Amino acid sequence: MKITLLGTGDAVGTPTLGCDCSACMDALNGGRSKRSRFSILIEGEGAVLIDTSIDMRYQLLKAGVSHVDGVIWTHSHYDHYAGFGEFYRIHKKVNIYGTKEILDQILKTFYFMCYQRHDVTLYETFSLIGLEFMLFKVSHPPLDNAVGVRVRDGDKTLVITGDTAKNIPEKSLKIMSNADLLIADALAPTFGLKKHMNAVQALALGRELNAGRIVLTHLSHSFGPHDIAAKKWPLGYDEMSFEL
Ligand SMILES: [Zn+2]
Ligand SMILES: [Zn+2]
Ligand SMILES: [Zn+2]
Repeated sequence: MKITLLGTGDAVGTPTLGCDCSACMDALNGGRSKRSRFSILIEGEGAVLIDTSIDMRYQLLKAGVSHVDGVIWTHSHYDHYAGFGEFYRIHKKVNIYGTKEILDQILKTFYFMCYQRHDVTLYETFSLIGLEFMLFKVSHPPLDNAVGVRVRDGDKTLVITGDTAKNIPEKSLKIMSNADLLIADALAPTFGLKKHMNAVQALALGRELNAGRIVLTHLSHSFGPHDIAAKKWPLGYDEMSFEL
Protein backbone atom coordinates (compact mmCIF):
# COMPACT_ATOMS: atom_id res chain seq x y z
CA MET A 1 0.00 0.00 0.00
CA LYS A 2 0.97 3.60 -0.48
CA ILE A 3 0.31 6.11 2.30
CA THR A 4 0.35 9.88 1.77
CA LEU A 5 0.04 12.44 4.54
CA LEU A 6 -2.22 14.96 2.82
CA GLY A 7 -2.41 17.23 5.87
CA THR A 8 -0.23 17.22 9.01
CA GLY A 9 -1.57 20.29 10.80
CA ASP A 10 -3.60 20.71 13.96
CA ALA A 11 -7.16 22.08 13.96
CA VAL A 12 -6.08 25.65 13.15
CA GLY A 13 -3.32 24.82 10.66
CA THR A 14 0.06 26.51 10.08
CA PRO A 15 0.39 29.38 9.28
CA THR A 16 -2.04 30.16 12.08
CA LEU A 17 -4.20 33.22 11.51
CA GLY A 18 -2.75 36.24 13.31
CA CYS A 19 0.53 34.57 14.32
CA ASP A 20 4.03 35.71 13.38
CA CYS A 21 6.07 33.00 15.13
CA SER A 22 9.05 31.45 13.32
CA ALA A 23 7.05 28.38 12.20
CA CYS A 24 4.24 30.52 10.79
CA MET A 25 6.77 32.75 9.00
CA ASP A 26 8.48 29.69 7.48
CA ALA A 27 5.03 28.44 6.41
CA LEU A 28 4.18 31.78 4.79
CA ASN A 29 7.49 31.62 2.92
CA GLY A 30 6.60 28.22 1.48
CA GLY A 31 8.61 26.05 3.91
CA ARG A 32 7.60 22.63 5.22
CA SER A 33 6.14 24.25 8.32
CA LYS A 34 3.08 24.90 6.13
CA ARG A 35 0.56 22.36 7.36
CA SER A 36 -2.97 21.83 6.11
CA ARG A 37 -5.50 20.00 8.25
CA PHE A 38 -5.44 16.25 9.01
CA SER A 39 -6.10 13.75 6.25
CA ILE A 40 -4.33 10.62 5.01
CA LEU A 41 -4.65 8.96 1.60
CA ILE A 42 -4.29 5.17 1.48
CA GLU A 43 -3.82 3.57 -1.94
CA GLY A 44 -4.09 -0.11 -2.78
CA GLU A 45 -6.43 -1.39 -5.51
CA GLY A 46 -8.04 2.05 -5.34
CA ALA A 47 -7.94 4.93 -2.88
CA VAL A 48 -9.35 5.54 0.60
CA LEU A 49 -9.32 8.79 2.54
CA ILE A 50 -8.85 8.72 6.29
CA ASP A 51 -10.79 11.86 7.26
CA THR A 52 -11.91 14.59 4.88
CA SER A 53 -9.91 17.56 6.08
CA ILE A 54 -11.33 21.04 5.84
CA ASP A 55 -8.51 21.56 3.26
CA MET A 56 -9.55 18.48 1.25
CA ARG A 57 -10.10 20.17 -2.10
CA TYR A 58 -6.57 21.55 -2.37
CA GLN A 59 -5.10 18.36 -0.97
CA LEU A 60 -6.79 16.22 -3.63
CA LEU A 61 -5.86 18.66 -6.40
CA LYS A 62 -2.21 18.40 -5.34
CA ALA A 63 -2.40 14.61 -5.05
CA GLY A 64 -4.07 14.34 -8.46
CA VAL A 65 -6.98 12.36 -7.01
CA SER A 66 -10.61 13.12 -7.90
CA HIS A 67 -12.34 9.86 -6.98
CA VAL A 68 -12.02 7.73 -3.86
CA ASP A 69 -13.37 4.26 -3.17
CA GLY A 70 -14.04 5.09 0.47
CA VAL A 71 -13.92 7.71 3.18
CA ILE A 72 -13.29 6.64 6.79
CA TRP A 73 -14.00 9.17 9.54
CA THR A 74 -12.11 8.95 12.85
CA HIS A 75 -14.29 11.41 14.80
CA SER A 76 -16.67 14.30 14.48
CA HIS A 77 -14.32 17.27 14.92
CA TYR A 78 -14.73 19.90 12.23
CA ASP A 79 -11.12 19.88 10.99
CA HIS A 80 -11.44 16.14 10.22
CA TYR A 81 -14.68 16.06 8.24
CA ALA A 82 -15.69 19.51 6.92
CA GLY A 83 -14.00 19.09 3.51
CA PHE A 84 -16.43 16.30 2.57
CA GLY A 85 -18.78 18.97 1.22
CA GLU A 86 -16.20 19.62 -1.54
CA PHE A 87 -17.40 16.40 -3.20
CA TYR A 88 -20.75 18.14 -3.86
CA ARG A 89 -21.60 17.78 -7.60
CA ILE A 90 -18.13 16.27 -8.17
CA HIS A 91 -18.25 12.80 -6.63
CA LYS A 92 -21.61 11.13 -6.19
CA LYS A 93 -22.39 8.15 -3.93
CA VAL A 94 -19.14 8.28 -1.99
CA ASN A 95 -18.80 5.18 0.18
CA ILE A 96 -18.41 6.37 3.76
CA TYR A 97 -17.32 4.21 6.68
CA GLY A 98 -17.35 4.80 10.42
CA THR A 99 -19.03 3.80 13.65
CA LYS A 100 -22.75 4.51 13.90
CA GLU A 101 -22.24 7.31 16.45
CA ILE A 102 -19.61 9.10 14.35
CA LEU A 103 -21.59 8.81 11.10
CA ASP A 104 -24.79 10.01 12.83
CA GLN A 105 -22.96 13.10 14.14
CA ILE A 106 -21.15 14.05 10.93
CA LEU A 107 -23.94 13.31 8.45
CA LYS A 108 -26.25 15.85 10.11
CA THR A 109 -24.05 18.45 8.38
CA PHE A 110 -24.17 16.71 4.99
CA TYR A 111 -27.93 16.30 4.45
CA PHE A 112 -27.42 17.77 0.93
CA MET A 113 -24.89 15.14 -0.14
CA CYS A 114 -25.36 11.88 -1.96
CA TYR A 115 -23.46 9.06 -0.28
CA GLN A 116 -23.49 5.36 0.49
CA ARG A 117 -23.32 4.75 4.22
CA HIS A 118 -21.46 1.76 5.76
CA ASP A 119 -21.71 1.41 9.55
CA VAL A 120 -18.63 -0.28 11.00
CA THR A 121 -18.35 -2.14 14.31
CA LEU A 122 -15.31 -1.39 16.46
CA TYR A 123 -12.65 -4.11 16.49
CA GLU A 124 -14.13 -5.92 13.47
CA THR A 125 -12.17 -6.07 10.22
CA PHE A 126 -13.58 -4.96 6.88
CA SER A 127 -12.12 -5.02 3.36
CA LEU A 128 -11.64 -2.11 1.00
CA ILE A 129 -9.34 -1.62 -2.02
CA GLY A 130 -7.75 -5.03 -1.37
CA LEU A 131 -6.68 -4.04 2.16
CA GLU A 132 -7.96 -5.05 5.61
CA PHE A 133 -9.15 -2.20 7.85
CA MET A 134 -10.10 -2.12 11.55
CA LEU A 135 -11.29 0.74 13.75
CA PHE A 136 -10.33 0.83 17.43
CA LYS A 137 -11.35 3.15 20.24
CA VAL A 138 -8.95 5.87 21.40
CA SER A 139 -9.20 8.65 23.99
CA HIS A 140 -10.16 12.14 22.79
CA PRO A 141 -12.25 13.90 25.44
CA PRO A 142 -14.88 15.23 25.57
CA LEU A 143 -15.79 12.91 22.68
CA ASP A 144 -16.24 9.32 23.83
CA ASN A 145 -16.29 7.78 20.36
CA ALA A 146 -13.06 8.75 18.56
CA VAL A 147 -11.25 5.94 16.74
CA GLY A 148 -7.88 5.05 15.29
CA VAL A 149 -7.38 2.92 12.17
CA ARG A 150 -5.32 -0.21 11.52
CA VAL A 151 -4.63 -1.14 7.88
CA ARG A 152 -3.09 -4.43 6.78
CA ASP A 153 -1.65 -5.37 3.41
CA GLY A 154 -0.47 -8.98 3.62
CA ASP A 155 2.09 -9.04 6.43
CA LYS A 156 2.52 -5.24 6.50
CA THR A 157 0.68 -3.19 9.11
CA LEU A 158 -0.03 0.52 9.32
CA VAL A 159 -1.56 2.06 12.46
CA ILE A 160 -2.98 5.58 12.58
CA THR A 161 -3.79 6.73 16.12
CA GLY A 162 -6.21 9.47 15.05
CA ASP A 163 -6.66 12.26 17.57
CA THR A 164 -5.93 10.80 20.99
CA ALA A 165 -4.47 11.36 24.41
CA LYS A 166 -2.02 8.77 25.74
CA ASN A 167 -4.54 6.79 27.83
CA ILE A 168 -5.74 4.53 25.01
CA PRO A 169 -7.86 1.50 26.07
CA GLU A 170 -5.92 -1.72 26.66
CA LYS A 171 -7.90 -3.62 24.03
CA SER A 172 -6.85 -1.08 21.40
CA LEU A 173 -3.19 -1.14 22.45
CA LYS A 174 -3.09 -4.86 21.64
CA ILE A 175 -4.43 -4.18 18.15
CA MET A 176 -1.94 -1.33 17.63
CA SER A 177 1.11 -3.43 18.54
CA ASN A 178 3.98 -4.32 16.20
CA ALA A 179 2.99 -2.03 13.32
CA ASP A 180 5.57 -1.47 10.59
CA LEU A 181 4.52 2.19 10.58
CA LEU A 182 2.77 4.10 13.37
CA ILE A 183 1.37 7.52 12.43
CA ALA A 184 0.77 9.21 15.75
CA ASP A 185 -0.95 12.36 16.98
CA ALA A 186 1.50 14.79 18.62
CA LEU A 187 0.10 18.30 18.85
CA ALA A 188 3.07 19.88 20.63
CA PRO A 189 6.64 18.93 21.60
CA THR A 190 6.40 18.61 25.38
CA PHE A 191 3.60 20.50 27.09
CA GLY A 192 0.65 18.61 28.55
CA LEU A 193 -2.63 18.23 26.70
CA LYS A 194 -5.93 16.58 27.62
CA LYS A 195 -7.13 15.66 24.13
CA HIS A 196 -3.85 14.93 22.34
CA MET A 197 -0.46 13.38 22.97
CA ASN A 198 2.65 15.50 22.93
CA ALA A 199 5.73 14.28 21.04
CA VAL A 200 7.37 12.77 24.14
CA GLN A 201 4.23 10.74 24.88
CA ALA A 202 3.81 9.69 21.25
CA LEU A 203 7.40 8.42 21.06
CA ALA A 204 6.88 6.53 24.35
CA LEU A 205 3.74 4.97 22.86
CA GLY A 206 5.71 3.93 19.78
CA ARG A 207 8.27 2.15 21.97
CA GLU A 208 5.57 0.46 24.10
CA LEU A 209 3.85 -0.77 20.94
CA ASN A 210 7.11 -1.94 19.36
CA ALA A 211 6.44 0.10 16.22
CA GLY A 212 8.96 -0.37 13.39
CA ARG A 213 8.81 3.33 12.55
CA ILE A 214 6.90 6.27 14.01
CA VAL A 215 5.90 9.48 12.24
CA LEU A 216 4.23 12.35 14.10
CA THR A 217 1.31 14.31 12.71
CA HIS A 218 -1.51 16.72 13.76
CA LEU A 219 1.33 19.17 14.52
CA SER A 220 0.89 22.74 15.74
CA HIS A 221 3.17 25.73 15.11
CA SER A 222 4.61 25.25 18.61
CA PHE A 223 7.23 22.87 17.15
CA GLY A 224 8.95 25.86 15.48
CA PRO A 225 10.26 25.70 11.89
CA HIS A 226 9.99 22.20 10.44
CA ASP A 227 13.56 21.78 9.19
CA ILE A 228 14.97 22.52 12.65
CA ALA A 229 12.33 20.57 14.62
CA ALA A 230 12.66 17.54 12.32
CA LYS A 231 16.25 17.07 13.52
CA LYS A 232 14.86 16.34 16.98
CA TRP A 233 11.47 14.77 16.26
CA PRO A 234 10.25 12.39 13.51
CA LEU A 235 7.82 14.95 12.11
CA GLY A 236 5.63 14.28 9.12
CA TYR A 237 5.01 17.00 6.55
CA ASP A 238 2.31 17.61 3.94
CA GLU A 239 2.63 15.28 0.91
CA MET A 240 5.09 12.95 2.70
CA SER A 241 4.49 9.42 1.44
CA PHE A 242 5.44 5.85 2.33
CA GLU A 243 5.24 2.41 0.72
CA LEU A 244 4.48 -0.62 2.88
ZN1 LIG B 1 -7.94 17.11 15.04
ZN1 LIG C 1 2.69 30.60 14.73
ZN1 LIG D 1 -10.15 16.03 17.30
